Amino acid sequence: MGEHHVPLQIDENNNVTKVGHDMGGSYEIKEAVQLELFPNDIYEDCILCGCKTTTLKSTHVDFRTGYIEGAGQLCRECYMKGSSDSREHISIPKHYIKTYPNDMELGEKVRQFYYQNY
Ligand SMILES: [Zn+2]
Repeated sequence: MGEHHVPLQIDENNNVTKVGHDMGGSYEIKEAVQLELFPNDIYEDCILCGCKTTTLKSTHVDFRTGYIEGAGQLCRECYMKGSSDSREHISIPKHYIKTYPNDMELGEKVRQFYYQNY
């Protein structure tokens, strides 16, 4: 069985208004069908500014950056707010402790994380 590509006509609200070619076999859709073309709700919202973060909801909190326990997810911008110089503390992902059992390697990773994120 061959693969069939059927063109969809989609309006500005992501509603499919037409299926198929004009030359035969097309039909207008009477009732608008909402298509989730770009599902946005797979990402966490920032608890501070409300924007979409780049953190997937499916990401375990131990593997997140900017997750505040008891509060929720911050976007990178909000998380980094306040000059990095004024910060007295940094936080590292908890899993680093178990992922890098070698103290020297852990230290290296912590330092690397620091320079990448602060
Ligand atoms: Zn934010």
